[in-house]
Amino acid sequence: MSITPITLPVEPAFSSSARTDLPEIQHIESIVAIHGSPLMLIDCDVIRAQYRSLKNALPNVDLHFALKPLPHASVVSTLLEEGACFDLASSGEVDMVRDAGVPAQLTIHTHPIKRDSDIRHALEYGCTVFIVDNLNELEKFIPYNDQVEILVRLSFRNAESYADLSKKFGCSPEKAIEIISYAKELGIRIKGLSFHVGSQTAKPEKFVQAIASCSQLLQQVVQLDLPALSTIDIGGGFPFNYHNDVMPIDEFCAPIREALSLLPETVKVIAEPGRFIVAPSVTSVSSVMGQNERDGKMWYYLDDGIYGSYSGIVFDHGKYPIDALHAEGERFPCVLAGPTCDSIDVVAEEILLPKLNNGDLIIGRLMGAYTTVTATDFNFFKKAEIVVLNESAGFYEDALITA
Ligand SMILES: *Cc1c(COP(=O)(O)O)cnc(C)c1O
Repeated sequence: MSITPITLPVEPAFSSSARTDLPEIQHIESIVAIHGSPLMLIDCDVIRAQYRSLKNALPNVDLHFALKPLPHASVVSTLLEEGACFDLASSGEVDMVRDAGVPAQLTIHTHPIKRDSDIRHALEYGCTVFIVDNLNELEKFIPYNDQVEILVRLSFRNAESYADLSKKFGCSPEKAIEIISYAKELGIRIKGLSFHVGSQTAKPEKFVQAIASCSQLLQQVVQLDLPALSTIDIGGGFPFNYHNDVMPIDEFCAPIREALSLLPETVKVIAEPGRFIVAPSVTSVSSVMGQNERDGKMWYYLDDGIYGSYSGIVFDHGKYPIDALHAEGERFPCVLAGPTCDSIDVVAEEILLPKLNNGDLIIGRLMGAYTTVTATDFNFFKKAEIVVLNESAGFYEDALITA
């Protein structure tokens, strides 16, 4: 099967108003003619552009892509070519990067809670940097104390982010000192500190404050005559501009760059971006299975919904720009529902769309982060097939087809 990949727009579509870009419409129709519906189209060119813009905004920071929002082999290979490093959190993620040929020294394992089998699986691959946030977890590394380097994860609460990751993980600076002291006793090397300010953090001040706290802790470690720390991991959480309400990434990172410039020159800085790299890279394509007028309003039932690609609406507060592929004509308020028999399976309640026929295509944009990963096949409606576009940089090739 061979199709000509399309280049989807690199710049995010901020409004839900349709692109009436004819070549794009024809390309999407030709992909659907081959693969059917529903689909999730990953555009690797968009991933390249996102990676480069964050790298430009944080030039002295090693970017470890966190696989979690879009763990797909094409994303890994695209980012590997761009020079990225990787952030892993499970044995399955270890397998994905190993299979993609990622050298283990480019990876860190950042799950604060692991089984011994997870630690051994990562070590067998060659990943030697791990995260802990408590003494119990630290003790799990006693058998491997000559092989590993540990980052201690700190918590800074952030109620404003999409996901306040410090609620579940991370320790206080006092606890960190306790962990670092105990590690010295156990002969385990502490490499540095890490934190995650929370996903889709709208304000760079959260990073700035966390970096300042880490900086104080670095000094305290030296004062206490503990081994000096060499690394600060500023985590993920870089916001993507879904709704024209967060600053451009370069502006967002300016105060972070400044805060980092105050650290001792010997300190290496790494980050774990996930969402920002992949958010605009995926376009959902679904089709109308049927329709009904209910209480004076049209309901269109799609072949993808809340239990599928649109699961991010539930799990990630997602509000994606959705439109009909053929968007011309007068618009009416209508409801877009998913295919399952559950009444919560509604994708959009108050959306203005032209009159749709069965089989018409619906496009959801900016759906790269935390969408397909949480999809289910509830009711045995198959998850959307993933189609990869522009996987090789610089020239077109046949789209890779993966389930
Ligand atoms: C989820 C996660 C990330 C990525 O976060 P984004 O908000 O997607 O950038 C990075 N590091 C860890 C430890 C995570 O759990």
